Amino acid sequence: MSLIIRKRILIKGVVQGVGFRPHVYRLAVVRRLSGWVKNDASGVTIEAQGAAEDLRLFIKELESRKPPAAAIDSLRASVIARAADADFTIIKSGGNTSAEAQIPADLALCPDCRRELSNPSDRRYLYPFTNCTNCGPRFTIVKNIPYDRPLTTMKGFKMCPDCLAEYRFPLNRRFHAQPNACPVCGPSLSARYRGRMIRGITALELVSDLLTKGKIVALQSLGGFHLACDASNHEAILKLRRFKDRPAKPFAVMVASAAEAGQLCFVSKAEREILESAPAPVVMLRKKNAGVLAQAAPGLSTLGVMTAYTPLHAALFRLLRSAGFKSPLVMTSGNRRDEPIAKDLAGAEEAFGAAADLIVFHDREIHNRADDSVGFYADGAFRLVRRARGYVPNAVRLDGLKAGQLEGRTVLGCGADLKTAFCLTRGALAFLSQHIGDQSEYANQKFYGETVDKMKTLLRVSPGVIAHDLHPDYHSSIYGRSLKGAKVPVQHHVAHVLSVAAEHAIDRPFIGVAWDGTGYGTDGKIWGSEFFVIKENTWRRAAHLEYFPLPGGDAATRHIWRSALSLLINALGPAWRAEAGRLFRGLDRKTVNAVERMAEKGVNAPLTSSMGRLFDAVSFISGLGPEATYEGQGPMELESLCARTSVQPYVFDISRQEGVFLIDPAKALVAALRERGAARARRISGRFHAGLAGMLADTVSVISRDSGIKTVVLSGGVFQNRTLLEYGMGRLKQKGFTVFANAEVPANDGGIALGQAYYALNSFRQI
Ligand code: ZN
Ligand code: ZN
Ligand code: FE
Repeated sequence: MSLIIRKRILIKGVVQGVGFRPHVYRLAVVRRLSGWVKNDASGVTIEAQGAAEDLRLFIKELESRKPPAAAIDSLRASVIARAADADFTIIKSGGNTSAEAQIPADLALCPDCRRELSNPSDRRYLYPFTNCTNCGPRFTIVKNIPYDRPLTTMKGFKMCPDCLAEYRFPLNRRFHAQPNACPVCGPSLSARYRGRMIRGITALELVSDLLTKGKIVALQSLGGFHLACDASNHEAILKLRRFKDRPAKPFAVMVASAAEAGQLCFVSKAEREILESAPAPVVMLRKKNAGVLAQAAPGLSTLGVMTAYTPLHAALFRLLRSAGFKSPLVMTSGNRRDEPIAKDLAGAEEAFGAAADLIVFHDREIHNRADDSVGFYADGAFRLVRRARGYVPNAVRLDGLKAGQLEGRTVLGCGADLKTAFCLTRGALAFLSQHIGDQSEYANQKFYGETVDKMKTLLRVSPGVIAHDLHPDYHSSIYGRSLKGAKVPVQHHVAHVLSVAAEHAIDRPFIGVAWDGTGYGTDGKIWGSEFFVIKENTWRRAAHLEYFPLPGGDAATRHIWRSALSLLINALGPAWRAEAGRLFRGLDRKTVNAVERMAEKGVNAPLTSSMGRLFDAVSFISGLGPEATYEGQGPMELESLCARTSVQPYVFDISRQEGVFLIDPAKALVAALRERGAARARRISGRFHAGLAGMLADTVSVISRDSGIKTVVLSGGVFQNRTLLEYGMGRLKQKGFTVFANAEVPANDGGIALGQAYYALNSFRQI
């Protein structure tokens, strides 16, 4: 007879609210073990008793066959005294607060629920709020921990006998699925149409009908409202663009399945897996040809695509497709430009009551807003550019930190001012907030403050250290300085590169490259193309683009021709008028003259080393528009033109002054100017991208020669440019460097809070 032993097993990670206990129960029953499993303060605790070999296999299977949404950070098992329990049971959660428990992120509709949703004889046929332990709302409905129904916005719904039976039966897929619901007892859809209230499936049928007729429908989804319309209908899209004041900014589209995405765009196996993953983000895919949904993403070679990730969307697409409607839907955040996404009917009516032909809402309150997450796949990893639904509040593990650095220190990283997100640390875990948006808007400042408070409650932390951007006027800096606790100002681009170090637990010296729009420098100038040497807990600026004047400061971000004028004056001197004057002929002459004076005299023209502005300049020189109607428009359109063939790279001169390498873009600008002409834009783009990649590798090499460092980190908004990221990584790897870039957090300012927190935890300083 084999030896009977008992073990206590402690598991930490994302193990609550994801069907982990039933999973444990099933494995225990299969292995004929007795004992119990329960949720507790730190995760899941199991006591299991049985034959030693069965216990060994049980523990192995706990890790290898975990539920899709679960993530195990640690599993510890120890032998304890045997006990006399007859069978294996699931112990109900106690009322104790789960100080270390993690709240799961929202999960896309799972295949089992999707099947039921499409089955006319199932009791949840086309029910927009179906879910199970493997899928459904989580973060967006959670008000407090532990994650149990009474502490979610499902509190007011009393389960019917059928749902309750599922909820109580350990082998059911809905065992302890907190948001469990059905058409009898759960939330329902409503719409007000022509003075009448319409509910349930009838409301959804009306949505389907109006969308096929080119109407705009506001739809209360998982983390907020969407504005939806037929993605092939030019008029509908134009109407939406006028309302959102977005003349050209691309809209994401939703399709019924990854297979449908493949009809519009090239979809690799890895991209397909992301489209179908539990977070189900918007994936930036390469269009099969420029004509694909040209109105949704004008001038771009890529399209943001997501699949129908909630039962509401899946049911809607089922109605649309069975009515013979084949088109994708534009599915864009329901907000006014630069405001937070609307999350209730009142907010929706106020924000777009006039623009939407129909507002459809439901009674499962959204507690935490979450926009759709967005990312792209490059160099073996999915890289987020907007981190929200499906990823928040998953933690980034700070594996590189030692216990001493963490002792009793909880940090708030405040983020920046565009694409704002903040970060709270708890021990070796860093929790980034969802994307909050542009802090120049009061509504977003309010959203920011509220979200800090909500996250502090959910994580049970109160930060003692406040890390904020060095920029004195950022709202996030002002907010941070108003809090109690030690203040740590962090240079913007240092925070960018440290966000990568934090993600990848890089504990050796590295060369950090931050190519960006703008950020406040320690010399009071506007930085944006920085190379740092990061060693132990010190940083040093090692190289950057030569400073150039930015006429009108921030205004140059919109009027991108201004950067071109300033850079061409720098490159050509007084000869600029003869050589480049014709470029500016279509623009208002008085303004051009004024800008010229600003650039030459340095009045109202702060000095900058911004790579983003150099990109703007080249996009304008190549023949693209003089104005940007959304952030990054010029560079994104320029990247879209990039011919992926081998071209001769533009040349950048690198010189050394007082120990810092300065990069001069004059030759590249003049070469681009001489090649200008409609048909040449593709060539200019190709040579510019290749030139930058070459310059990147050359500059890193000269810094490496001095320092002996062979590890490189790339971050900053410019590296959302997939072509540049791939070219740059390729060139660096060819030269023998090990290269890291952002993946879990955005390379843009949405990831900066992580770098700020990491800076404070490591007590970094400038040398
Ligand atoms: Zn499910
Ligand atoms: Zn029910
Ligand atoms: Fe930045």
